[in-house]
Amino acid sequence: MKYLKRITCLFVLLSYSFILMAQGKQVVIFSTNDMHARIHNFAKIAAYIENYKKQNPNVLVLSGGDLYSGNPVVDQYPEKGYPMIDLMNRTGYQFSAFGNHEFDYGQATTQRRIDQANFKFLCSNLKVDETCDLKQPDAYAFIKVGGIKIGIVGILEATVHGNGVRYPACHPARVQGITFTDPVEEIQNYRNLRKKCNLFIALSHAGYESDLVIADKMPELDAIVGGHSHTKIDSTLFRNGVLVTQASSYTEGLGKLTFTFKGKKLIKKEYEYINVKNLTEEDATIAQAAQEFIDKSPLKTVLAEAAEQLDGKEELGGLMCDALVSEYGVDFAVQNSGGVRISQLKKGPITMEDVYTLDPFGNTVTIYNMSYTQLATLLKNSYRKYSQRADLMCSGLKYKIYTKDGEATRVEITDEQGNPVDQNRTFKVAMNNYISSSYSFDQSGLVEETANSASDALIAYLKKVKSVKKDIHRTEIVRE
Ligand SMILES: [Zn+2]
Repeated sequence: MKYLKRITCLFVLLSYSFILMAQGKQVVIFSTNDMHARIHNFAKIAAYIENYKKQNPNVLVLSGGDLYSGNPVVDQYPEKGYPMIDLMNRTGYQFSAFGNHEFDYGQATTQRRIDQANFKFLCSNLKVDETCDLKQPDAYAFIKVGGIKIGIVGILEATVHGNGVRYPACHPARVQGITFTDPVEEIQNYRNLRKKCNLFIALSHAGYESDLVIADKMPELDAIVGGHSHTKIDSTLFRNGVLVTQASSYTEGLGKLTFTFKGKKLIKKEYEYINVKNLTEEDATIAQAAQEFIDKSPLKTVLAEAAEQLDGKEELGGLMCDALVSEYGVDFAVQNSGGVRISQLKKGPITMEDVYTLDPFGNTVTIYNMSYTQLATLLKNSYRKYSQRADLMCSGLKYKIYTKDGEATRVEITDEQGNPVDQNRTFKVAMNNYISSSYSFDQSGLVEETANSASDALIAYLKKVKSVKKDIHRTEIVRE
């Protein structure tokens, strides 16, 4: 009898643990990264997470950083970036990494968005000083989900730039007063968090390659929720035992990390990439909120009238340069033809949307003092052999490139009426920071790297002049 009782007891215990083994306790992390202001998929993502929670409420929602920059509905919203915060709040995000693009609106704006977020930004490798509008973010956090204690530590990519200073890929003016350390080195100072939690996660905006190095150096981590490199990892990937994940970008992918526990012991980890395009259900409230942001966006605001149709790179690039000359009071401005993204502006109203379609990159304006020779060299170097026209559109002055057998031989710069200019004077020149960073010329006369975008200058200019016409051609290629 006693024997039988023992058997029964053992059987009950066994079947109980079998049930536990079969079901286990699962904690699921959903993640997106590098969303870059894309708001149209939150309704689907939220519906998917809500539905999942009905079968398992043990859910954590994370963002791998780079919330902003890439959609004028968000980037030009009166409170820049707010639509992302609102929709992420509604979707139930709990933590986000700091992305390099989190600095794009300036520190004060970034801090206001952080204050409005129901989720917390984590970053262990940045330190603000007392001059900063940005408050010091926490390096890490703990959160309990279904009785499992999760430790999360945040990192952000930051490399040493040409000037010897380490900072993330953003305008240096935006991160003044902030000191950055190497994310791969810094995160290793948090190894001991391992002992204080059941599940240890790196929330990384350091990029896929760095994440692999971190996994090699820090096997204490259970998983890395990554971002920055827009890498689509679409299957379970282990590196040194660490689950490495990243869910592409632009809310096109939703990462799903499933952790199975036996008691408090992690026994299994899996990753699934969910293609958001294939999700059909939408959260109606969130879909409506996103639509309202689109409806309220200033994109349809009329800035000026085109008195006639403007065609081609020369006329449109010339308009962009007119704005720089007028707004920055410079002698000369140039615009690379590759940065002119539309081929015509029709007669009639010019809207904010037209400006951001014409110039979507958000490049900032850089100012130089240049000698005639320096300027002529920039223009000469810009000539592309197989192109039938000048590559740099301009305003304030005109120029001719003389070519022989397809090679630029010399450049002649005149005033707008075609009169010679004093070759001994200094010219103040404005250009976008794409030209300043990728064209070949003497940079010694750098005056200022402004934090303002060229598109902002065009908006201000259009509002001021109210009407624009096509202008005379300002560049010429002369074959000798
Ligand atoms: Zn990034």
